[in-house]
Amino acid sequence: MNPFRRPLIAGNWKMNMGGRDACELANAVAKRTRVNDRVDVVVAPPFTAIAAVAHEVEEVRGSIDVAEGFGVGIAAQNLHAKSSGAFTGEVSAPMLRDAGATWVIIGHSERRQLFGETDEGVAEKTKAALEADLRPIVCVGETLAEREAGQTLAVVERQLRAFMGLLATSPGVGVVAYEPVWAIGTGRVASPQDAQQVHGRIRELLAEVSEELAEATCVLYGGSVKADNAAGLLGEADIDGALVGGASLDAEGFGGIADAAQRLALALAEESEAESEPDAVPNAREAEHEVDLSPAAFAGEADLSPETFDTAEAEQDAYSAAANDEGESAPDVAASEAAPAEQAAAAGQGDEQQAPDDEQPPDDAQADDAAPAEQAAGDDDGDAADDDGDAADDEQADDAAPAEQAAGDDDDDDDDDDDDDDDDDDDDDDELATEVIPSDEPKKK
Ligand code: 13P
Repeated sequence: MNPFRRPLIAGNWKMNMGGRDACELANAVAKRTRVNDRVDVVVAPPFTAIAAVAHEVEEVRGSIDVAEGFGVGIAAQNLHAKSSGAFTGEVSAPMLRDAGATWVIIGHSERRQLFGETDEGVAEKTKAALEADLRPIVCVGETLAEREAGQTLAVVERQLRAFMGLLATSPGVGVVAYEPVWAIGTGRVASPQDAQQVHGRIRELLAEVSEELAEATCVLYGGSVKADNAAGLLGEADIDGALVGGASLDAEGFGGIADAAQRLALALAEESEAESEPDAVPNAREAEHEVDLSPAAFAGEADLSPETFDTAEAEQDAYSAAANDEGESAPDVAASEAAPAEQAAAAGQGDEQQAPDDEQPPDDAQADDAAPAEQAAGDDDGDAADDDGDAADDEQADDAAPAEQAAGDDDDDDDDDDDDDDDDDDDDDDELATEVIPSDEPKKK
């Protein structure tokens, strides 16, 4: 992450959650993420539930005290490029706006692979979304076969070039999501380093359009992101958020990912402020809205779970307790004394919930003295093959600098990469490790 781009955590519910279930999940997500005021949170229900979910989220916003900056955006999972006409079974951008969506996922690998979507079609849809004032989250990513053939960067570049020029008219509105197909629904997440290589290349390509576009565009990672591996990924400089599938169907797990982004955002902001104003005292506006994101808060001592907020009164009390307005709410004194990055790192090792489909063996890499962002990431993990960032066994970052802690270091990654990107010449030191390539397992979601 980067202090100048607001992180985005988006949940793709895919073909799950009809009517009532969708509303219940949306309600729980809105309450669970109410404190994540540094993060854009988005959920993408199926078409049939968009209007109900949009309504539900507004109800939550109106019924409880939420942090300034709070909001759960609604995304569609697809759209048709035309605004109306004889296209049986399709849904257009204006219809999605009308139903309450303000975002749309485009070119997801499942649509490319199962429904024959092409780069050209993705570009047409991106254009239609932007024209209708829907923020596009456009997906790119290589298949396992492409990765094994060393074509990762070439594939991603081809997919990105098809639409990236369209994003230039309003830099920062469009989002790119890198989702390696082999990581989707498999429980096998790319290592932060491998993901960063691709994200860095995406940003380089965006810079060919304009520096402004490169700086403003959020580039999300997707593929088996969970609460316990999110911090490691988000700690990378060019990973600005996550597109989450399976873990987004559980409010607590999804909220844990948003928490990881929130901790990092806070750590990076503090670090950035400290750099620009070395003698500044903690900023009052920040203190006013700050919430307790300490390890204790996430270990249950300060209960921010949806259950806590069953009644309006309980909600207000709990929120007031959580808000750090008097500086007295934090149950964890030790954490409050720690440097910002350390707090983020420590919190990152919390008890985040294990995603249901996480079957990877625990991998524990150690965070040592990393730089600020790394500690927030907390987990580390090195080799992608086995790492799925199981927070439980990760060790704790100790005295790292602010950003490092948030990011957590990681890595020992076996760089035996071999992914010679034949496609691009770049400096390659950035080859992608092929050993991290997972076997072709069936998708779960
Ligand atoms: P999983 O998080 O289930 O791997 O899905 C990722 C995805 O496809 C999000 O769009």
